[in-house]
Amino acid sequence: MVGRILFVGKDDGTCKEVERLFGRTVQVRRACERVEMGEVLRKGAFPVSAVVLDLLHSIDGWRNIPDQIRALVGSSCIPIIALVGEEDDVLPIIQAGASAFIRTPRDLPSLPGIVNNLHTTVATDSSIRIDRRTGLLNRETFFSLAEEMILSKPAGYYVLSCLNIDSFKVVNEQYGEERGNEVLWHVGKAFFAFVDPIGGICCRYSADKFSAIFPVSFLKSQEILQCHQKAENPPCLPSRIRIRIGRCIIDDPTLPIGNIYNRAVLAEESLHGRYDISIAQFEQSMMDDLLYEQKIVAQMHDALAGGQFAPWYQPVYNHATGALIGAEALVRWHHPTEGLIPPNRFIPAFERNGFIYEMDISVWRQVCEQLRQWIDQGRNPLPVSVNVSRIDILKQDFVSVLTGLIDQYRLPIELLRLEITESAFSQYPERITAVIRQLVEIGFTVETDDFGSGYSSLNSLKDVPVQVVKLDMRFLGDVGNTRRGGSILESVVRMVKWLDMAVIAEGVETLEQADYLKSIGCFYVQGYFYARPMTSQDYEKRFIGSSSERTLECIRTVRNLRTSSFWDPDSLDSFIFNNYLGGACILEVRGARVEVLRANDKYRQVIGTTGIAIDDALRVDWAMFMDAESRSRFFPALQRSVETGDEIGGEYQFLDLPGCAHQVFLHVSIRAIATSRERILVYCMVENTTNLHIAQQREQEITHQMGEILRNMDGGVAATTFVDGKLNYLYVNEQYHGMLGFTKEQFEQELPNGLRDLVEPSFLPQLQQAIATSEHAGIPVSIEFRARTREGRYLWLHGSGMSCIFDGIEVPVHVSVIIDITRQKEEAEQFRFLNEL
Ligand code: C2E
Ligand code: CA
Ligand code: CA
Repeated sequence: MVGRILFVGKDDGTCKEVERLFGRTVQVRRACERVEMGEVLRKGAFPVSAVVLDLLHSIDGWRNIPDQIRALVGSSCIPIIALVGEEDDVLPIIQAGASAFIRTPRDLPSLPGIVNNLHTTVATDSSIRIDRRTGLLNRETFFSLAEEMILSKPAGYYVLSCLNIDSFKVVNEQYGEERGNEVLWHVGKAFFAFVDPIGGICCRYSADKFSAIFPVSFLKSQEILQCHQKAENPPCLPSRIRIRIGRCIIDDPTLPIGNIYNRAVLAEESLHGRYDISIAQFEQSMMDDLLYEQKIVAQMHDALAGGQFAPWYQPVYNHATGALIGAEALVRWHHPTEGLIPPNRFIPAFERNGFIYEMDISVWRQVCEQLRQWIDQGRNPLPVSVNVSRIDILKQDFVSVLTGLIDQYRLPIELLRLEITESAFSQYPERITAVIRQLVEIGFTVETDDFGSGYSSLNSLKDVPVQVVKLDMRFLGDVGNTRRGGSILESVVRMVKWLDMAVIAEGVETLEQADYLKSIGCFYVQGYFYARPMTSQDYEKRFIGSSSERTLECIRTVRNLRTSSFWDPDSLDSFIFNNYLGGACILEVRGARVEVLRANDKYRQVIGTTGIAIDDALRVDWAMFMDAESRSRFFPALQRSVETGDEIGGEYQFLDLPGCAHQVFLHVSIRAIATSRERILVYCMVENTTNLHIAQQREQEITHQMGEILRNMDGGVAATTFVDGKLNYLYVNEQYHGMLGFTKEQFEQELPNGLRDLVEPSFLPQLQQAIATSEHAGIPVSIEFRARTREGRYLWLHGSGMSCIFDGIEVPVHVSVIIDITRQKEEAEQFRFLNEL
């Protein structure tokens, strides 16, 4: 038991209570404040074995007390126990250097036990028990306490987690070490606040790694969620951090704590490179993988020497033409007892231990050798892409090894393409970019592998001089299977970022995917749909006798579109495409062919397709169904859009479009999206104007027919307006002036008041009266009168007229019809004359 305790504090009552708790065997001395404490310790008259600090009753400058005590006593091991309130924040106290704290009065009775315990552990273990940076336990203390805890509970009661701050180096570099320390402090505090109340403990394991042990029952609690949330959002940083967490449920309490911790670490390591999840639980397979890795690492050198690593070839095709365009070399380990081992089983391990470089050089060499052989055999091989690991690029002699191989095998440099994974750019981006630039200058074609794997290198991509982007379908989810317009844009957005680069899609497993890709301008595909990786002999058979293309066609986006909001998935344009507008589609124009590649759901509705399979409705060549006049306007409009990047609208007529009515008029706004040597991709918004057209046409027809009737009828018809005392003819038919012996010109020039100038004066008042009635009452009127012909003969006319209001004409229009009734009149006259006889 401890012999001498120094109690530092003002409160008599507490001091008495402490004395009482320790009983007779222990001497307790009291110092009211710092100065007095200093005197006691300095004199050495009272060699203390532990110090109790009463922080319930404030002590001036208490933060410096622990350091001061240790300095005066000349030992870092002396236990210093702080008495704190039940709600007090203990981290500052621990950080100040206290060895332990006791919540008073609740836990005060345990003081002697704790002092005793601390004294013995501290006596045998001279390391500092607290991590000063975070105020948490240090690793050793944590492990020894955790061991005791585990043994005190049944199997499966506790879980141990190891926590690792993602890219903590970056925090330090970006914001300075001090800010980095603040982050560590913050994270420690968040975890402490979680485990402390639930009977757990935590420590800082090293640098940016933490560990905690707590009851399994809290794994799914609200508290743990809040804890992670809090830990990942340090207030001192503008953005959140990510913490990877590996866990091991302690099923076997007899397992040494170090092993348990290693299992949690293994789980944590399984999260490296994963951006979708940040928590993993240890599983036996992880241990198996580790053991497997150890096994292959032991065999790798012999395997290389024995030629067990050999490239297989996976062909790449142009889906638009069906031509072979090259292959990717993929390594296979021909293991003497295990058979063919796929690269995923060994590449990651080789990348970790650096052996990858030796292995890769061997693969590159074999590919070069193979290419040379094909050349020598007159086979004219297509380019082969080899994989380059990030580790390779960082090697001093990397570039010279490659150029050495090209020289040694006397290969045209285009034949050896280099695939560098997207994630390689995440670390040392300047260095990697510089090397790639160098490779490109030498003449190599460099491809970005695994684009879309989620590593946000989109931004860096524009600074990286790669010529080809490999887009991995497996990273893009079901993008190829959805027909939703949204995915079009999503992908096109991606595409446009790949400005002036060729795109190869890999992992293409179905025809739908390949077609879909083609529809967004990505023609080159690699994947099980076309071929699996195969031996060089099988690949050789493929390229002999199959059509091939030697240059990759780059898709170029139309100049003005690069910065257009069209590409912004959140832009209004995109919103319209996805949600609002009627029909929209993407056309591919190749020569005179205009194919609808994809369309949104409303497109079909808009064009009025009925009772026909969607594919048939969509996959049509517009040009074949456009009438000649429309075609003569469509292509120039398209050309203009390519040149200017503008959207150009026009109305086009289609005849017998599959599934549609006989004729369809579409108002189409076209916008060229991308062009290549032979193709133009066009984004179209489509409006169906057929009904409008039909209505207009019908009106024209009616007018035409009316005109025919009027032209051919016996009577004369005229439509006139009277403005500023002047008579104007809107319409007048042949008979109107003809029956009076005038040509149209004579009629208009010689008769300023029209027919009125010819009316026998005695009929004029009657006529005037009739016109006024028609104007005011808006009803038809008719009148019989005599009028003079140009030769001076008089005719009897039946005139009827009406004032009408027409759209677009502001003044009333007088429509009048005259019929020559002279003969009837004369006959009637004769008849009357005869009767009178
Ligand atoms: P990677 O470079 O992305 O290669 C494509 C992987 O996808 C290959 O797997 C290929 O077989 C597989 N694949 C191709 N088409 C399809 C498909 O339609 N569906 C599915 N599910 N998978 C498809 P593999 O050959 O197992 O290679 C795996 C990875 O190993 C490669 O991914 C590459 O990162 C690495 N690798 C392969 N060979 C080498 C090499 O020689 N050197 C280096 N450093 N890495 C290599
Ligand atoms: Ca690859
Ligand atoms: Ca890939």
